[in-house]
Amino acid sequence: MPRSNRPSRAKPKVAPIEEIDLNATRLGIRRTEFKRGDEYITQTSIGANAEDTKTWVCPHCHLQIAKGLSHLVAWDAVRGVETRRHFHNACWKSFQGPLL
Ligand SMILES: [Zn+2]
Repeated sequence: MPRSNRPSRAKPKVAPIEEIDLNATRLGIRRTEFKRGDEYITQTSIGANAEDTKTWVCPHCHLQIAKGLSHLVAWDAVRGVETRRHFHNACWKSFQGPLL
């Protein structure tokens, strides 16, 4: 059933994934990931949020994420969405935390 490549030591306690996936078409796909034992929530972004004209700087490579570029928003599951940052997809993969 779990088709993501989360580390095997990261046991999903609860899996309300089906419900979240109903919103995924609109809001992006939300997942839980573990990096060095910390739990993060990630959500894909198609980068085309018309009401948000902000641009973001990826905290991993410190380059700007171009408007319209599909990328990923990640935040610390414990500290909450206040910690969210926008990452290039590839940068998130190599990012090992922690989120500041
Ligand atoms: Zn980056």
